[in-house]
Amino acid sequence: MPADTVSVTGWGRTAPTNARVIRPRTYEEAAAAVRGCGTRGGIPRGLGRAYGDAAQNAGGAVIDMTALDRVHAIDADGGTVLCDAGVSLHCLMQVLLPLGWFVPVTPGTRHVTVGGAIGADIHGKNHHVSGAFSRHVLSFELLTADGEIRTVSRGTPLFDATAGGMGLTGLILTATLQLLPVETSLMSVDTERAADLDDVMDRLTATDHRYRYSVAWIDLLARGAATGRAVLTRGDHAPLDTLRAGTRAYRDPLAFRPARLPSPPALFPEGLLTRRSVGLFNEFWYRKAPRARAGELQSISAFFHPLDGVPHWNRVYGRGGFVQYQFVVGHGQEEALRRIVERISQRRCPSFLAVLKRFGDADPGWLSFPVPGWTLALDIPARLPGLGAFLDELDEEVAAAGGRVYLAKDSRLRPELLAAMYPRVADFRALRAEADPRGVFTSDLSRRLGL
Ligand SMILES: Cc1cc2nc3c(=O)[nH]c(=O)nc-3n(C[C@H](O)[C@H](O)[C@H](O)COP(=O)(O)OP(=O)(O)OC[C@H]3O[C@@H](n4cnc5c(N)ncnc54)[C@H](O)[C@@H]3O)c2cc1C
Repeated sequence: MPADTVSVTGWGRTAPTNARVIRPRTYEEAAAAVRGCGTRGGIPRGLGRAYGDAAQNAGGAVIDMTALDRVHAIDADGGTVLCDAGVSLHCLMQVLLPLGWFVPVTPGTRHVTVGGAIGADIHGKNHHVSGAFSRHVLSFELLTADGEIRTVSRGTPLFDATAGGMGLTGLILTATLQLLPVETSLMSVDTERAADLDDVMDRLTATDHRYRYSVAWIDLLARGAATGRAVLTRGDHAPLDTLRAGTRAYRDPLAFRPARLPSPPALFPEGLLTRRSVGLFNEFWYRKAPRARAGELQSISAFFHPLDGVPHWNRVYGRGGFVQYQFVVGHGQEEALRRIVERISQRRCPSFLAVLKRFGDADPGWLSFPVPGWTLALDIPARLPGLGAFLDELDEEVAAAGGRVYLAKDSRLRPELLAAMYPRVADFRALRAEADPRGVFTSDLSRRLGL
C-alpha cells in the first residue's frame, strides 16, 4: 500500500510531526496496515478535527480511515445505521435527514468521522439530555493489535476502553448507531443575553431541562461587572407544524443544503486576532444578539456548525496555530469556574470562540471527558506570550477542583496530572498492556501522557 511521509497536525495546527500516512481502502488493507506499522506503531485518523496531537504519530504510521466510507445498511423504521468508521457525520446527515433521522450527537463541526466520534466519545449541545456519542453506539467492529476483528458490544470493558480511548485500542472499522427521529431539518431556537457569569449559570441551571440543545457563547474579554457576559442559544428540532404552509421549508421540510463560503488564504496574515480586534468582535457579537427571542427557525448548519461554512477557518490564526483549551469541573465547583473565568478575562486572552455548557450524567467510557458539571472551551492563539505557563496553572486549578481537560483538544497537558483527572486511566493502561503488549497502537498524545 502506498504511504507518504508527511507533516501531520491536529486542527489547531500546533506541534506538527512527520509520519507515514497510509490510507486503506478495504478492511484487508487496514489489517495489512496494522501488521506493517513497524516499531513506532500506528494510530487511526479520521478527518483530523481533534485539535491536538491525538491523531498523529511522530516517526510511525498514521492510518487514515477516510477511504472506508460506506453506509452499509439503514433501518428506516427502527432508526439505526450500520456504516464504516470513515463515514463523516456530514455524509450521514445527507443520507439520513431525508429519511427523517438525525445523528444522535453532533459536535460543533459535522466534518468528523464516526471512528473519530467514538475515539473521542464526543459530546454535543445535547449532552445534558442525551449523553456522549458512544451512548448511541449499539456495537462496533474493532481491528485489534493481534490482527483480529472483534465485534464489541456495549457494557464490555473493550467497549468502555475504546469509547474515548483516542484510537489506542485499535481501528474501529464499522459501527451501528441508534438515530434520533426528526420531522424537519430546521431548529427552533431561543436566544437570550446574560449580563455576567452568574446570570448565565443561573439561566442554564434553571431552564436547560426544557431544551434538548443548550449552549452559551461567552465573552471572555469582558471585564468588571460584565465578566462572563454571554449569549445563550437553546432549542430543539422544529416540529412540522411550526413551518408555515406555502414556504420552501414546508414543501421540503427535510432538505439539507448547508452553504459554503470560500476558504481563507493558506497564508493568512499574522496578527489580525489582537485583543483589540477580538474585543471589538465580541462587543459586536454580544450587542447583535437579541435580549430575548423565542422560536426562531434556523438551519441545522447555522445552529450546530456555523464554522463549517468557512472551510479551513483554522488558518485565521496564522502559522502559529491555536490552542483550544476545554475543561470541565463538577457541580459544586462553581467557585473554581468563576476563578478560572476571572483569570482568563484578566489575562486578556484574545478569544472569540468560547462556549460554556452544562454536562449531564457521565458516560461509561473510561477516558470519556464529560462529567456532570460545567465545561468551558476556548480558542487562544498559540503564539500568545506566556501561554504555556498560564495554561499549566489553569490545569492545576482544574485538577484541584476534581475536573479534567479534554484529550481531543489537548496538545500540552503534563502527564503527572492525568491520573487525577481521569481516575480510570490505570484500568485503561492495564487493558492496553494485555491487548496490545507490543504497543502497536501509539500516538504523540499517548507517548506524551504515558497512556
Ligand atoms: C470546529 C470544531 C468543533 C468541535 N466541537 C466539538 C464538540 O462540540 N464536542 C466534541 O466532543 N468535540 C468537538 N470537536 C472535536 C472533534 O469532534 C473530535 O476531535 C473528533 O474526534 C474528531 O473526529 P475526526 O474524525 O476528525 O478524528 P481525528 O481528529 O482524526 O481523530 C480523533 C481521535 O479519534 C481516533 N480515531 C479516529 N478514527 C478512528 C477509528 N476509525 N478507530 C479508532 N479510533 C479512531 C484517533 O486516533 C484520535 O485519537 C470539535 C472540533 C472542531 C474542529
